[in-house]
Amino acid sequence: MSSATESPARTYRVRTYGCQMNVHDSERLSGLLEEAGYTAAAGDDDADVVVLNTCAVRENADNRLYGNLGHLRPVKDAHPGMQIAVGGCLAQKDRGEIVRRAPWVDVVFGTHNVGSLPALLERARHNAEAQVEIAEALEVFPSTLPAKRDSAYSGWVSISVGCNNTCTFCIVPALRGKEKDRRPGEILAEVQALVDQGVLEVTLLGQNVNAYGVEFRDRGAFADLLRAAGRIDGLERIRFTSPHPREFTDDVIEAMAETPAVCHQLHMPLQSGSDDVLRRMRRGYRQDRYLGIIDRVRAAMPDAAITTDIIVGFPGETEEDFEQTLEVVRRARFASAFTFQYSKRPGTPAAEMDGQLPKAVVQERYLRLTALQDQISWDENRKLIGQLVELLVASGEGSKDAARGRLSGRGRDGRLVHFTAAEGIRPGDVVETVITEAAPHHLVADGVLLSHRRTRAGDASEAGTRPTTPGVSLGMPQVGVPAPLPVLASGC
Ligand code: SF4
Repeated sequence: MSSATESPARTYRVRTYGCQMNVHDSERLSGLLEEAGYTAAAGDDDADVVVLNTCAVRENADNRLYGNLGHLRPVKDAHPGMQIAVGGCLAQKDRGEIVRRAPWVDVVFGTHNVGSLPALLERARHNAEAQVEIAEALEVFPSTLPAKRDSAYSGWVSISVGCNNTCTFCIVPALRGKEKDRRPGEILAEVQALVDQGVLEVTLLGQNVNAYGVEFRDRGAFADLLRAAGRIDGLERIRFTSPHPREFTDDVIEAMAETPAVCHQLHMPLQSGSDDVLRRMRRGYRQDRYLGIIDRVRAAMPDAAITTDIIVGFPGETEEDFEQTLEVVRRARFASAFTFQYSKRPGTPAAEMDGQLPKAVVQERYLRLTALQDQISWDENRKLIGQLVELLVASGEGSKDAARGRLSGRGRDGRLVHFTAAEGIRPGDVVETVITEAAPHHLVADGVLLSHRRTRAGDASEAGTRPTTPGVSLGMPQVGVPAPLPVLASGC
């Protein structure tokens, strides 16, 4: 049998759809493929292996997948030896259906067996037939797999995967399974490994991040983790996403306020302001509880930027229900909100509910909500004019920067700031400046920079190097070995 390690010239490309989980899973797919001897391709069309990391959350995700696969077919026909792999939530859901509808696909793998990809590609090549392998439960905790990071200055670190909740609009529990928590020592070791390579900012990631500890029955585990990460020397910014209001506890607010490295930024999904809709969404909290958390966060951290997700037009949502959402938005004064028009997701309880609303009603409410939120975002941003901000310089965040002689960075509160460029500033460096102008979705700092700190992350950006995190040795799948060993038992 030939092996991918004997064909180091084979190139790959990973295309990512969906949430941060998928973005981070794609970093792992890249890490796995590079460890198996593949190298990154310059473009989609010349890659020997194209991996589509799919998302099942959005409406029409399957149409988009089959459309993309249709476009890839002539590319593959013209490129002997090319392989196409489909992974992620949609693969977990559609399984063998994918190769039935698109027989030119070589590999289908699910959310629980990401580590199998190199072996499946190898097997498909060797057997000259499509390989579909979907695991029902997590085989290897994803963060035990190697990852090639996208950013030199900022890294994702998974602390849990899966979710024990049963929100009626959400397909995640069906596709990602029950929550699995990673041991704190392992998480902190990964954070340390990133910091050792110059990373300044880490975002702790979980579908329901503040439920962390549920598996080992420690209610204080998430706050403890924030404090422990805050003690890592050289780690300047700690963020986390996404916390669930039901599990939000005051010890997390205290840990945020008392740990200097934890950013005063909170992304906490509201989904609806109506108690009745929240009940039918099975969210497990009510308006009062949500606003209470916000009040306590603001009391402890008056400069906190709070952002949210809101769904408009959930089945049965009345005008009064929607007014309740507007009321919470007025009171919470979010820095920004991701607003979604409800759309049926097959396989979710909400898709079967009575009271599905006409598109025109949903659209009209959506426009009212975004107009209100844009006004609030703008008002809140205007309050920052004249304030000094510390920015972590970013890459690729300002499409008009070059034309306007600017660079972009993120404040500690997560806000995007476009500032006047100066000689020698690299992504990953840290600058200080003063806000001069506000728009609903960004800030501008057109004055002279007050300081510029060159960092190791900036050096890495300039050199074009990216951090890598090796997989731990337990259960690492080897090329040619079909199934990885299960490692996420109790002992990690
Ligand atoms: S908390 Fe709800 S919305 Fe979030 S992943 Fe779990 S089930 Fe889905």
